[in-house]
Amino acid sequence: MKYDAPVQDMMFLLTELVGLEQLQELPGHEDFDESLAEAVLEEAGKFASTELLPINQVGDQHGAMHENGNVTTPPGFKEAYTQFIENGWTGIDSNPDHGGQGLPKVLHVLIDEMLGATNLAFKLYSELSRGAYHLLDNTAPDEIREKYLPNMVAGTWSGTMCLTEPHAGTDLGLLNTKATANGDGTYKINGSKIFITSGDHDLTENILHLVIARLEGAPAGTKGISLFLVPKFLVNDDGSVGDRNGVVTASIEHKMGIKGSATCALNFDDATGYLIGEENRGLAAMFKMMNIERMTVAMQGLGLADIAYQNALAYALDRRQSKAPAPRPDSNKAADLIVYQPEVKRQLLKMRAQIEGARALAVYSVLHADIMEKAEDASVAADAHHLVALMTPVMKSFFSDLGMEATLSAQQLYGGHGFIAEHGMEQLVRDCRITTLYEGTNEVQALDLVSRKLTGATGEFTDRFLDEWLNYAKEQDAPDVVSAMEHLIEATAWVREQQEADDAAVRGVASQYLRLFSLAIIGCMWLKMKTAAQGKDGSFYANKRKIAFFFVKQILPETESLLTTITGGRDALAGFDVADFGE
Ligand SMILES: Cc1cc2nc3c(=O)[nH]c(=O)nc-3n(C[C@H](O)[C@H](O)[C@H](O)COP(=O)(O)OP(=O)(O)OC[C@H]3O[C@@H](n4cnc5c(N)ncnc54)[C@H](O)[C@@H]3O)c2cc1C
Repeated sequence: MKYDAPVQDMMFLLTELVGLEQLQELPGHEDFDESLAEAVLEEAGKFASTELLPINQVGDQHGAMHENGNVTTPPGFKEAYTQFIENGWTGIDSNPDHGGQGLPKVLHVLIDEMLGATNLAFKLYSELSRGAYHLLDNTAPDEIREKYLPNMVAGTWSGTMCLTEPHAGTDLGLLNTKATANGDGTYKINGSKIFITSGDHDLTENILHLVIARLEGAPAGTKGISLFLVPKFLVNDDGSVGDRNGVVTASIEHKMGIKGSATCALNFDDATGYLIGEENRGLAAMFKMMNIERMTVAMQGLGLADIAYQNALAYALDRRQSKAPAPRPDSNKAADLIVYQPEVKRQLLKMRAQIEGARALAVYSVLHADIMEKAEDASVAADAHHLVALMTPVMKSFFSDLGMEATLSAQQLYGGHGFIAEHGMEQLVRDCRITTLYEGTNEVQALDLVSRKLTGATGEFTDRFLDEWLNYAKEQDAPDVVSAMEHLIEATAWVREQQEADDAAVRGVASQYLRLFSLAIIGCMWLKMKTAAQGKDGSFYANKRKIAFFFVKQILPETESLLTTITGGRDALAGFDVADFGE
């Protein structure tokens, strides 16, 4: 396996697609410049390919272990984690008051892509910590922030997100975990959580669980959920690690992929917890963390797509089979490199066009997460907020689906050699599979898009947003992108119309609508990249123009068939009753 961090592409997006000035206008980011961005990305890329990639297969083969009540990480993970935190990678976009570097989120997600590409199982040990950190920084009282956050930024303590229970996955309103007030401001937490990423491990001195539970007498469903901080070890007044809290690791899961990541079943037995935010408002607080995680999961899918593409390309440039169509590049050889087979070339280009387009969408969207947080103009911040809300389900679903599509395509390009373990392609497929499932399955993201993001204030923003991009495509005289945007606008109008009349019809096409949305917006990204590359010398810019052409001619036309299935498929679904499955 090889991995070359796509730093040149990332820098192109930061400096020529969106422009660093947009970041430099934000308080706290005035000094963020090209050389700093490039240096950080180069270093992250080096760490990912030289430290994380070499232990990726070991992590898969060895897995995390649960023995005698303790969870251990695979060989090499501890050493890599020590280096990871010494280099400061756990505090990239954290508050400098807590020891963080205060760098933009858009830089962080690009690093996320590299870590996800090279060793997703390792990455997960710090991933939830970041979401937990930002949640606590936004929501927790000062004394908790001061006591806990510096250690999270330093990476010596990690965080988890404890939502799922055996019978409560997507529908968290069904949860059973209970919280009882102790009368001294603390709470007793009792219940069982499953599938908790990094719920226990040997990399940090303490683990801070963010647990959702129901207080006695609270309303049923999602309106009665509160959020608690439950440390593995209680923390003394002076900030030192104290007694073990009532959190027990019952088991770890044996799973299809990310085997080096410990996915834990945790029992909370009279564990001491601290209320975070208001009573019964826990899910709203938790969504702050979940939205960050959804963007991060998107970058996992993108990273895995990219490493799969890079290795498939290397293989196609090395493997000789069959004769290619005339004119044959190596007419003196018995067989040509498989990259000269047009079908192989098309598959590689399809991967690359989607990967680079998705990366552009990531930079564009997460830049708005920075604007949303720091812009001084309230209306600019509000628009950025709507854009991030709109793009979160789109990125999470489309990028993780792309991860699956690209890892499978790359595996296909290896032929039978992709199926065996040696080259690592089958591990990429297995590791990527989780990205479409956790942080809310992709179906649930699609539902979020059609039911929440097309209505209310975000819905009004969405209309403006779609019109702006349609006008941009018209101004640029790009008929393929104009058509795709018109398909999206027509599908949006249909979804809105049906929402009142036939909710089932809308839900039945939500995933198709999300895909149409993603393709059309990525078409706009390609148009913007092509415009940025116009008139510039060098193969990098020439390739951008060529791949933009490939995207609009080979991938974007799918929006037309999606529009047809979205608006025309209602009777086909409704005509078959659930009871008919039994016939
Ligand atoms: C490796 C791993 C790590 C995880 N890490 C964490 C973690 O750190 N913290 C945590 O709390 N959880 C974690 N999870 C749990 C994960 O988030 C859930 O598995 C996921 O949310 C889905 O819940 P479920 O498995 O119960 O599926 P279910 O909710 O039972 O869903 C089953 C199927 O029904 C579909 N479905 C359900 N409701 C709807 C709907 N309204 N509309 C359309 N389709 C629907 C789903 O898309 C899915 O295909 C992890 C899971 C795994 C496997």
